[in-house]
Formats: sequence, C-alpha cells, structure tokens
Amino acid sequence: MIPLLLVPVAWMPTRAAERTVTVTTAPSPNNARTTTDTADDCAGRRYGARCLPPPRCARDELDLDGLCVPTGAAMEEDRSASLETNAHVDRAGRRVVYEHLPRRPELPADYDRYVYPVEPWGGHTVTSGYDLDRRDEAQRRGQTLRAVGHGGVDLPQERGAPVRVVSLRGEVGEPEVVFAGELFGNTVVLRHVVREGAALQTYLALHGHLQSIATEAVKGVTVRPGATIGFVGDSGALGVVHLHYEVRLVRQGVDPMRVEPAQSLVGQEVSVPCDPRNVLPFR
Ligand SMILES: [Zn+2]
Repeated sequence: MIPLLLVPVAWMPTRAAERTVTVTTAPSPNNARTTTDTADDCAGRRYGARCLPPPRCARDELDLDGLCVPTGAAMEEDRSASLETNAHVDRAGRRVVYEHLPRRPELPADYDRYVYPVEPWGGHTVTSGYDLDRRDEAQRRGQTLRAVGHGGVDLPQERGAPVRVVSLRGEVGEPEVVFAGELFGNTVVLRHVVREGAALQTYLALHGHLQSIATEAVKGVTVRPGATIGFVGDSGALGVVHLHYEVRLVRQGVDPMRVEPAQSLVGQEVSVPCDPRNVLPFR
C-alpha cells in the first residue's frame, strides 16, 4: 500500500538460471550475540563498534540460519551480480527503472515457510507478495495506488496486534532502530547486519502502517528478537489494517543512521528493495 521511490539507473543483464546446492548443518553458534568488545577479544572480527561472533560456516559457505550452503566461485560471482534491474511504466506513462534483489532461486517460494513480525492470521501469512521481479503488467497497480509494484509483503492481522522484531538469517548481533515516525504511516525501520559468506551486508526492515509505535522503539536503540516495536494498524492505508513489511539492501558505503530525511532511506541511492524471503528465518 505504499509508493516506491525510484530513480532511473543503467540497464543491467538479468541473472543466471536456477541451480542445485547441497547443505550441511552448522555447528552451534559459539558465543553468538556478543556485543561487548575490546581490541584483544575481537580477533579481527569487528564491524563498526561491534565485536562479531565467530562464523558458523566456512569462508566459502553461506550461513542460512545454521545451514551451511556451499557457495563456490560460481555463487561468489552470482552474489555480486544478484542485484537485478527491472522496470515498469507508472500511471503517468513514465518508464521507471530500478535495481532490486529478487528471491534466491534455491530458497522456497512458499511464503508460509517463513517467520514474520506478526503471527499468521486466519490461516494467512502474506496477502500481497513481493512483485518487483515480475514483468511490468504483473506488478501490482490499482486505481487507488499512486505507485506501481510492491517491494514488500502485506501481513494480515488484527488492529493492535504486536509487531515483533524478527532476527534475520545469518544476523550478526541485534538490530538497531534507524527510524521511528511517519514514513509509510507510522513506521519503524530497523537496521540488520547479516553475514553472507565472507561478506557482511546491511539491510533495512520497514514495518509500516502501524497504529502506534512502542515507546521503546527510539532511533539508535538496539532491540532484541521478539521485542515489540509497535502495533498493527492502518495509518497511511486508511481502512486496510495490515503490516507492510519491506526489506531493503543498503548500498555499500552508506550509513543509514546518518540518512536524512527519513524518506531518503527508501531512495535507490541509499537502498534497494529485496525479496524478504532471502533473509527471513524459516518456520
Ligand atoms: Zn504493502
């Protein structure tokens, strides 16, 4: 129910076809979630002010919530190329080109396989899925929508239901509140740091259309998985009570804590939409 802020970018080729991977089980995380640090304890694993936990998987493996998936040179190459370009024609007839991260083909397509910030409601998890990877005509649009395409998922729930912090797969440490206020209605944006193979990626998770924001959700605060950050509502989507949950990959070199105004967090120069199935934990 929200507009995407999109700017034109250069055209890029699309990714390679599906592949098969085998998985092994990771050993239990050792000393995971450690956030205190001293120079000596960090053993070279430092991200900003944080001391990172030891990796659970080998350097050439992808940590999928404890499953170590071999990546190999081919996937290393794919990871850097996995940012795809798509386009649509907006209601004013303009062709809008954007980059985004489609679902990794090795991950389940079924939305019910994943954990979300709200409980399933009436047997449903997702009522409107990610569609930026579809061809233009198949992307969501409607008379009342100002924008084309949907870069997140819409989760049905009752008004006032708690919205809880979800720890992403491969997350390092705990997420931080980047923004709490008016964006897509009342919105809380969290910053997640995720280990992908040998690399660390920063994602934003947007929780939109909240009835209200929890008093604990303040910019700069670290929030624990399971903590309540707000309550489901229809702010900015009058009459349609649901949670809009959107995950965005932050571009390299951008510190989202310093981005002002908040609307710029969802600008293509700061972050690009990502299929949330790439990072949500499995049920
Ligand atoms: Zn939505």
